[in-house]
Amino acid sequence: MALPERSLEKRPLVVAAPGVESHGPAPEVVARAHPLGDLEIQYFCRFGAEKLDDLGTRVQLIQAWGMCDRHALGFLAVEASLNDGWLFQPAVVYADLMERAELALARGWLFERARVAASLTAVEPCWPCHMGLASTYEADATAMDIVNDGRRLEPLLDIAAGTRAHWTLWVCGLCAESTSVVRCRPHLLAELDQGRVGLDAHRGCVADIARHADALAASFGWSRRGTETIVDRAALIGAVGWCAGWRRILDLLG
Ligand SMILES: [Zn+2]
Ligand SMILES: [Zn+2]
Repeated sequence: MALPERSLEKRPLVVAAPGVESHGPAPEVVARAHPLGDLEIQYFCRFGAEKLDDLGTRVQLIQAWGMCDRHALGFLAVEASLNDGWLFQPAVVYADLMERAELALARGWLFERARVAASLTAVEPCWPCHMGLASTYEADATAMDIVNDGRRLEPLLDIAAGTRAHWTLWVCGLCAESTSVVRCRPHLLAELDQGRVGLDAHRGCVADIARHADALAASFGWSRRGTETIVDRAALIGAVGWCAGWRRILDLLG
């Protein structure tokens, strides 16, 4: 999708579902560990502002189907922390990926499974992993202020709590060890490889996430500001879960 013109108005994505307190996570949630180490947080604090406009970065993100589950979740957490829940950069990246996912799953009569499997296979590694970023590295001593700004998990936990009723419908049954027939991209690929999957059941889920993720990304543009719904906000978590798998999301946000 085309990049929307960035709105001048900053709007938090934090919206509480009925009956959900949005002023902070429960005490036991606060203790959950951030998926990233300090150097990674330092990097993402700067990456969001500068690197996403780089064509090479965008191409690698497309060819890798985003980032690995740990870096993707960390990306969301840092962006939410820095921008008070305003997730413009992740929304654009993952709306683009879900649009590509919908195209990859489009019906075709010849060699459909092989074609879909090839389209859904990542051909590049997770970009931060490829850079050698690891959770054990310490941040630069001069960067601790920005690391502290980006380390808060509460904004992402609030978003997850406020949208949970919707994104849980898209959780992969194998990631969650449930009876759901929904599959994330990695598990869909595994089942395609085993010849055990019919694609029709998955097209609706992917189209649903893609439609709402696109609406969310578009809502950051000036002309569509304020048009996003709670389902649109949930679609960002749905998109990351679909692309990278749900296990780490469920561990942190579930
Ligand atoms: Zn990674
Ligand atoms: Zn899965």
